[in-house]
Amino acid sequence: MRELGPGDPDNSKKPEDAFQEADNLTHEDMPMGDPKVEKNFVEPWYGIDFDGTLSMYYGFKGPGHTGDPIPRMVTRVKQWIAAGMKVKIFTARISVPDQRQEAETAIREWCLRHIGKELEITNIKDIGMVVLYDDRCKQVETNTGRLLNV
Ligand SMILES: [Mg+2]
Repeated sequence: MRELGPGDPDNSKKPEDAFQEADNLTHEDMPMGDPKVEKNFVEPWYGIDFDGTLSMYYGFKGPGHTGDPIPRMVTRVKQWIAAGMKVKIFTARISVPDQRQEAETAIREWCLRHIGKELEITNIKDIGMVVLYDDRCKQVETNTGRLLNV
């Protein structure tokens, strides 16, 4: 049996243990591949939603408004970055063309202030996305359609 990856369910573990394990992931757990061998190599990254996941959110107050940091999530992101992982802000905020610039600027400044560096911001999922942390997600078990963590 292959080792479990970051997106795989492990039903043999108690939820708190599985959570702890996810929090302890390092870049060695990521399917890095070899950029010299794989012509379609895309650098692996973790996707982190912004509103309600990384920053407090109580309804839309404009593209330039950002909430206070959510400490638990900010700590995770800092740990991942320190471990060498690539982290991207994955947010629908930048999907409105005439608000995109203002939203990106606000999120960039927020990241600099609370995480210590600017993070790439995207609303596009590509093959490098290893995992997504999002307050609107329902995790579906691979190939079964079953919901996990309900
Ligand atoms: Mg959200």
